[in-house]
Amino acid sequence: MSKPRLEGKVALITGAASGIGEEAARLFAENGAFVVAVDIQDELGNGIAASIGAERITYRHCDVRDEKQVEETVSYTLEKYGSLDILFSNAGVMGPLTTILELDIDGLDSTMATNVRGVAATIKHAARAMVGRNIRGSIICTTSVASSIGGSGPHAYTTSKHALVGLVRSACSELGAYGIRVNCISPFGIATPLSCKAYNLQPGEVEANCCAAANLKGITLKAKHVAEAALFLASDESAYISGHNMAVDGGFTVVNNSPAVV
Ligand code: NAD
Repeated sequence: MSKPRLEGKVALITGAASGIGEEAARLFAENGAFVVAVDIQDELGNGIAASIGAERITYRHCDVRDEKQVEETVSYTLEKYGSLDILFSNAGVMGPLTTILELDIDGLDSTMATNVRGVAATIKHAARAMVGRNIRGSIICTTSVASSIGGSGPHAYTTSKHALVGLVRSACSELGAYGIRVNCISPFGIATPLSCKAYNLQPGEVEANCCAAANLKGITLKAKHVAEAALFLASDESAYISGHNMAVDGGFTVVNNSPAVV
Protein backbone atom coordinates (compact mmCIF):
# COMPACT_ATOMS: atom_id res chain seq x y z
CA MET A 1 0.00 0.00 0.00
CA SER A 2 1.30 3.47 -0.84
CA LYS A 3 2.15 5.90 1.93
CA PRO A 4 -0.55 8.48 2.85
CA ARG A 5 0.23 11.69 0.96
CA LEU A 6 0.46 13.89 4.09
CA GLU A 7 1.68 11.26 6.54
CA GLY A 8 2.66 12.86 9.85
CA LYS A 9 2.38 16.44 8.55
CA VAL A 10 0.67 19.11 10.64
CA ALA A 11 -1.82 21.35 8.83
CA LEU A 12 -3.58 24.52 9.93
CA ILE A 13 -6.76 25.20 7.93
CA THR A 14 -8.78 28.42 8.22
CA GLY A 15 -12.44 28.62 7.29
CA ALA A 16 -12.61 24.92 8.11
CA ALA A 17 -16.16 24.82 9.47
CA SER A 18 -17.79 24.89 6.03
CA GLY A 19 -17.41 24.42 2.30
CA ILE A 20 -13.89 24.07 0.87
CA GLY A 21 -12.20 24.26 4.29
CA GLU A 22 -14.36 21.48 5.70
CA GLU A 23 -13.62 19.23 2.71
CA ALA A 24 -9.90 19.98 3.04
CA ALA A 25 -9.95 19.15 6.77
CA ARG A 26 -11.53 15.76 5.99
CA LEU A 27 -9.21 15.02 3.05
CA PHE A 28 -6.01 16.10 4.81
CA ALA A 29 -6.92 13.97 7.87
CA GLU A 30 -7.75 10.98 5.60
CA ASN A 31 -4.32 11.44 4.02
CA GLY A 32 -2.45 11.17 7.30
CA ALA A 33 -2.18 14.79 8.47
CA PHE A 34 -2.84 16.15 11.94
CA VAL A 35 -5.19 19.07 11.44
CA VAL A 36 -5.92 22.21 13.42
CA ALA A 37 -9.21 23.44 11.96
CA VAL A 38 -10.14 27.03 12.72
CA ASP A 39 -13.15 29.19 12.03
CA ILE A 40 -15.57 31.57 13.71
CA GLN A 41 -18.54 29.16 13.43
CA ASP A 42 -17.69 27.13 16.52
CA GLU A 43 -20.70 24.82 16.60
CA LEU A 44 -20.13 23.69 13.01
CA GLY A 45 -16.36 23.45 13.53
CA ASN A 46 -16.68 21.34 16.67
CA GLY A 47 -19.17 19.06 14.89
CA ILE A 48 -16.77 18.47 12.00
CA ALA A 49 -13.88 17.74 14.37
CA ALA A 50 -16.08 15.26 16.27
CA SER A 51 -17.03 13.50 13.03
CA ILE A 52 -13.36 13.15 11.96
CA GLY A 53 -12.01 12.11 15.35
CA ALA A 54 -9.88 13.70 18.09
CA GLU A 55 -6.83 11.61 17.17
CA ARG A 56 -6.54 13.49 13.85
CA ILE A 57 -8.13 16.92 14.26
CA THR A 58 -8.68 19.72 16.76
CA TYR A 59 -11.11 22.55 16.25
CA ARG A 60 -10.25 26.00 17.59
CA HIS A 61 -11.94 29.38 17.38
CA CYS A 62 -9.86 31.87 15.42
CA ASP A 63 -11.04 35.04 13.74
CA VAL A 64 -8.36 35.72 11.13
CA ARG A 65 -9.10 39.46 11.30
CA ASP A 66 -7.51 39.47 14.76
CA GLU A 67 -3.74 39.01 14.50
CA LYS A 68 -3.43 38.03 18.17
CA GLN A 69 -5.85 35.14 17.68
CA VAL A 70 -3.88 34.02 14.63
CA GLU A 71 -0.58 34.18 16.55
CA GLU A 72 -2.09 32.23 19.45
CA THR A 73 -3.49 29.63 17.08
CA VAL A 74 -0.07 29.05 15.51
CA SER A 75 1.47 28.71 19.01
CA TYR A 76 -1.30 26.29 19.97
CA THR A 77 -0.62 24.19 16.85
CA LEU A 78 3.10 24.00 17.65
CA GLU A 79 2.42 23.06 21.28
CA LYS A 80 -0.19 20.46 20.41
CA TYR A 81 1.50 18.75 17.44
CA GLY A 82 5.13 19.95 17.60
CA SER A 83 5.23 21.30 14.02
CA LEU A 84 3.45 23.31 11.36
CA ASP A 85 4.08 21.97 7.86
CA ILE A 86 1.03 23.21 5.95
CA LEU A 87 -1.05 26.37 6.13
CA PHE A 88 -4.26 26.32 4.10
CA SER A 89 -5.40 29.94 4.50
CA ASN A 90 -8.84 29.55 3.04
CA ALA A 91 -11.25 31.67 5.11
CA GLY A 92 -12.96 34.30 3.04
CA VAL A 93 -16.09 36.39 2.68
CA MET A 94 -17.98 37.57 -0.38
CA GLY A 95 -18.60 41.13 0.86
CA PRO A 96 -21.20 43.56 -0.44
CA LEU A 97 -22.89 43.10 -3.81
CA THR A 98 -23.18 46.67 -5.03
CA THR A 99 -22.42 48.50 -8.22
CA ILE A 100 -19.18 50.50 -8.35
CA LEU A 101 -21.38 53.65 -8.42
CA GLU A 102 -22.87 52.64 -5.08
CA LEU A 103 -19.71 51.04 -3.70
CA ASP A 104 -19.93 50.46 0.03
CA ILE A 105 -16.47 51.62 1.16
CA ASP A 106 -16.84 50.24 4.69
CA GLY A 107 -17.88 46.93 3.13
CA LEU A 108 -14.75 47.05 0.96
CA ASP A 109 -12.62 47.55 4.11
CA SER A 110 -14.33 44.69 5.85
CA THR A 111 -13.86 42.36 2.86
CA MET A 112 -10.16 43.28 2.71
CA ALA A 113 -9.88 42.71 6.49
CA THR A 114 -10.75 39.03 6.07
CA ASN A 115 -9.62 38.20 2.53
CA VAL A 116 -6.28 40.05 2.54
CA ARG A 117 -5.33 41.30 6.02
CA GLY A 118 -6.51 38.08 7.66
CA VAL A 119 -4.63 35.91 5.17
CA ALA A 120 -1.52 38.09 5.60
CA ALA A 121 -1.62 37.49 9.37
CA THR A 122 -1.84 33.72 8.85
CA ILE A 123 1.08 33.74 6.38
CA LYS A 124 3.18 35.92 8.72
CA HIS A 125 2.75 33.72 11.78
CA ALA A 126 2.84 30.37 10.00
CA ALA A 127 5.99 31.42 8.10
CA ARG A 128 7.64 32.56 11.36
CA ALA A 129 6.96 29.13 12.83
CA MET A 130 8.33 27.37 9.72
CA VAL A 131 11.44 29.54 9.34
CA GLY A 132 12.27 29.29 13.05
CA ARG A 133 12.15 25.49 12.92
CA ASN A 134 13.69 24.93 9.48
CA ILE A 135 10.43 23.48 8.18
CA ARG A 136 10.20 23.35 4.38
CA GLY A 137 6.49 24.08 4.58
CA SER A 138 3.68 24.63 2.10
CA ILE A 139 1.39 27.66 2.30
CA ILE A 140 -1.77 27.65 0.20
CA CYS A 141 -4.37 30.42 -0.04
CA THR A 142 -7.80 30.33 -1.66
CA THR A 143 -8.28 33.01 -4.27
CA SER A 144 -10.99 32.76 -6.97
CA VAL A 145 -11.54 33.22 -10.68
CA ALA A 146 -12.15 36.79 -9.45
CA SER A 147 -8.40 36.99 -8.75
CA SER A 148 -7.59 37.11 -12.46
CA ILE A 149 -10.59 38.62 -14.26
CA GLY A 150 -13.11 41.38 -13.55
CA GLY A 151 -16.85 40.86 -13.71
CA SER A 152 -16.99 37.40 -12.17
CA GLY A 153 -17.67 38.60 -8.62
CA PRO A 154 -18.54 41.70 -6.60
CA HIS A 155 -16.11 44.65 -6.75
CA ALA A 156 -14.76 44.39 -3.19
CA TYR A 157 -14.34 40.63 -3.55
CA THR A 158 -12.54 40.93 -6.91
CA THR A 159 -10.27 43.63 -5.47
CA SER A 160 -9.42 41.48 -2.45
CA LYS A 161 -8.69 38.35 -4.48
CA HIS A 162 -6.46 40.21 -6.94
CA ALA A 163 -4.59 41.64 -3.92
CA LEU A 164 -4.26 38.16 -2.47
CA VAL A 165 -2.40 36.95 -5.57
CA GLY A 166 0.06 39.82 -5.01
CA LEU A 167 0.49 38.81 -1.38
CA VAL A 168 1.15 35.19 -2.35
CA ARG A 169 3.73 36.17 -4.98
CA SER A 170 5.42 38.56 -2.58
CA ALA A 171 5.57 35.98 0.22
CA CYS A 172 6.84 33.40 -2.30
CA SER A 173 9.70 35.72 -3.25
CA GLU A 174 10.96 35.88 0.33
CA LEU A 175 10.15 32.43 1.63
CA GLY A 176 11.73 30.49 -1.23
CA ALA A 177 15.10 31.09 0.47
CA TYR A 178 13.85 28.92 3.35
CA GLY A 179 12.46 26.19 1.14
CA ILE A 180 8.88 27.27 1.87
CA ARG A 181 6.43 27.14 -1.04
CA VAL A 182 3.55 29.62 -1.33
CA ASN A 183 0.71 29.05 -3.79
CA CYS A 184 -2.93 29.80 -4.27
CA ILE A 185 -5.93 28.00 -5.70
CA SER A 186 -8.41 29.84 -7.85
CA PRO A 187 -11.80 28.10 -7.98
CA PHE A 188 -14.77 28.77 -10.25
CA GLY A 189 -18.21 29.03 -8.59
CA ILE A 190 -19.29 26.34 -6.12
CA ALA A 191 -22.49 25.98 -4.13
CA THR A 192 -21.32 26.65 -0.56
CA PRO A 193 -22.92 28.81 2.14
CA LEU A 194 -20.73 31.73 0.90
CA SER A 195 -22.24 31.77 -2.59
CA CYS A 196 -25.74 30.65 -1.59
CA LYS A 197 -26.10 33.35 1.06
CA ALA A 198 -24.56 36.11 -1.07
CA TYR A 199 -26.94 35.51 -3.96
CA ASN A 200 -29.86 34.28 -1.80
CA LEU A 201 -30.12 31.06 -3.80
CA GLN A 202 -30.47 27.37 -2.98
CA PRO A 203 -27.43 25.16 -3.66
CA GLY A 204 -29.17 23.59 -6.69
CA GLU A 205 -29.80 27.05 -8.17
CA VAL A 206 -26.17 28.13 -7.65
CA GLU A 207 -24.99 24.92 -9.31
CA ALA A 208 -27.38 25.38 -12.25
CA ASN A 209 -26.13 28.96 -12.77
CA CYS A 210 -22.49 27.88 -12.49
CA CYS A 211 -22.95 24.98 -14.89
CA ALA A 212 -24.65 27.27 -17.41
CA ALA A 213 -21.74 29.74 -17.25
CA ALA A 214 -18.98 27.11 -17.09
CA ASN A 215 -16.53 26.36 -19.89
CA LEU A 216 -16.14 22.71 -18.91
CA LYS A 217 -19.45 20.88 -19.34
CA GLY A 218 -20.74 17.61 -17.94
CA ILE A 219 -19.33 18.14 -14.45
CA THR A 220 -20.35 20.29 -11.48
CA LEU A 221 -17.53 21.86 -9.49
CA LYS A 222 -17.69 20.75 -5.83
CA ALA A 223 -15.73 21.87 -2.77
CA LYS A 224 -14.06 18.43 -2.81
CA HIS A 225 -12.41 19.18 -6.18
CA VAL A 226 -10.80 22.28 -4.67
CA ALA A 227 -9.72 20.35 -1.57
CA GLU A 228 -8.02 17.84 -3.88
CA ALA A 229 -6.00 20.66 -5.47
CA ALA A 230 -5.05 21.83 -1.97
CA LEU A 231 -3.97 18.29 -1.09
CA PHE A 232 -1.69 18.25 -4.14
CA LEU A 233 -0.15 21.63 -3.27
CA ALA A 234 0.25 20.57 0.37
CA SER A 235 1.96 17.29 -0.54
CA ASP A 236 5.48 16.55 -1.74
CA GLU A 237 4.01 15.79 -5.20
CA SER A 238 4.16 19.55 -5.84
CA ALA A 239 7.70 19.86 -4.41
CA TYR A 240 8.91 22.45 -6.99
CA ILE A 241 5.68 24.41 -7.44
CA SER A 242 5.67 27.84 -5.82
CA GLY A 243 4.16 31.23 -6.62
CA HIS A 244 1.41 29.61 -8.68
CA ASN A 245 -2.27 30.60 -8.78
CA MET A 246 -3.72 27.21 -9.68
CA ALA A 247 -7.00 27.57 -11.53
CA VAL A 248 -9.65 24.99 -10.65
CA ASP A 249 -12.05 26.56 -13.07
CA GLY A 250 -12.44 24.20 -16.03
CA GLY A 251 -10.73 26.75 -18.26
CA PHE A 252 -13.17 29.56 -17.46
CA THR A 253 -10.50 32.28 -17.12
CA VAL A 254 -8.56 31.42 -20.27
CA VAL A 255 -11.37 31.29 -22.80
CA ASN A 256 -13.68 33.88 -24.26
CA ASN A 257 -16.98 33.37 -22.47
CA SER A 258 -19.03 35.60 -24.73
CA PRO A 259 -20.98 33.99 -27.61
CA ALA A 260 -18.75 32.69 -30.41
CA VAL A 261 -18.26 35.06 -33.34
CA VAL A 262 -17.08 32.43 -35.82
P1 NAD B 1 -18.01 28.88 3.11
O1 NAD B 1 -18.86 30.03 3.52
O2 NAD B 1 -18.59 27.53 3.03
O3 NAD B 1 -16.69 28.80 4.01
C1 NAD B 1 -15.97 29.95 4.40
C2 NAD B 1 -15.63 29.78 5.88
O4 NAD B 1 -14.79 30.87 6.27
C3 NAD B 1 -16.89 29.83 6.77
O5 NAD B 1 -16.95 28.70 7.61
C4 NAD B 1 -16.69 31.11 7.57
O6 NAD B 1 -17.23 31.05 8.90
C5 NAD B 1 -15.18 31.24 7.57
N1 NAD B 1 -14.75 32.60 7.88
C6 NAD B 1 -15.26 33.75 7.36
N2 NAD B 1 -14.65 34.80 7.96
C7 NAD B 1 -13.75 34.30 8.83
C8 NAD B 1 -12.83 34.89 9.74
N3 NAD B 1 -12.74 36.21 9.87
N4 NAD B 1 -12.03 34.08 10.48
C9 NAD B 1 -12.13 32.73 10.36
N5 NAD B 1 -13.00 32.12 9.55
C10 NAD B 1 -13.80 32.90 8.78
O7 NAD B 1 -17.43 29.29 1.67
P2 NAD B 1 -16.37 28.59 0.70
O8 NAD B 1 -16.97 28.74 -0.65
O9 NAD B 1 -15.95 27.27 1.18
O10 NAD B 1 -15.19 29.65 0.82
C11 NAD B 1 -13.85 29.28 1.08
C12 NAD B 1 -12.93 30.14 0.24
O11 NAD B 1 -13.17 29.83 -1.14
C13 NAD B 1 -13.13 31.64 0.38
O12 NAD B 1 -11.87 32.28 0.47
C14 NAD B 1 -13.85 32.03 -0.90
O13 NAD B 1 -13.59 33.35 -1.27
C15 NAD B 1 -13.24 31.04 -1.86
N6 NAD B 1 -14.00 30.79 -3.09
C16 NAD B 1 -15.27 30.37 -3.05
C17 NAD B 1 -15.97 30.16 -4.24
C18 NAD B 1 -17.41 29.72 -4.27
O14 NAD B 1 -18.06 29.87 -5.30
N7 NAD B 1 -17.95 29.17 -3.19
C19 NAD B 1 -15.32 30.37 -5.48
C20 NAD B 1 -14.01 30.80 -5.48
C21 NAD B 1 -13.35 31.02 -4.28
